[in-house]
Amino acid sequence: MSILDSFDVDQDELELIDRAVRQPPQRNDKRICICGHPVSRHNEVTKACRPARFSCPCKRLHPVIEVPDTRYFLSRTLGSGEKHALTRGIFMARNAMGDDFEARAKWLVDMVCENPECRKPTKLFPIKCDTDWFRIYDSEKEQGVTCFYCESCRNIYYDSEEAIQAKREAMRLRNTTQTS
Ligand SMILES: [Zn+2]
Ligand SMILES: [Zn+2]
Ligand SMILES: [Zn+2]
Repeated sequence: MSILDSFDVDQDELELIDRAVRQPPQRNDKRICICGHPVSRHNEVTKACRPARFSCPCKRLHPVIEVPDTRYFLSRTLGSGEKHALTRGIFMARNAMGDDFEARAKWLVDMVCENPECRKPTKLFPIKCDTDWFRIYDSEKEQGVTCFYCESCRNIYYDSEEAIQAKREAMRLRNTTQTS
């Protein structure tokens, strides 16, 4: 006796409805956006990303990796680098799938810094950015833009505490005046 047997419903009917509601065309898209979520979870028209029961503010639909199984890529972004949904998704997929993930996943981007003035070959590191591609520090504000920056492009923003404070304050002012 299954749990569903306690329901006064028709299983064949359930099967039919499930099939009708399922959306097969996008399911074959195994690409992951730089926001860390499947491209298939982005609205085809508006590009808005809705990975699960929450919305992702992704403003830059940019497929970066193709994976054998997209279901590990549904985390929230908690910051840059290790805290980013893309990094965490890859970590979880690799833990769950092991060598199979390694063998079948493939990058869709070149291993270069995305700063147009740099373009240096680099390991990838997802940085949470403002809409002008300037790095967001540890602000709670999620602007929906992620970029891959090399180590030196990540670090130039750490020039001084004062500079960081000034930038934070400017960002805070802009964000509070923007919300009307
Ligand atoms: Zn996205
Ligand atoms: Zn997303
Ligand atoms: Zn760089």
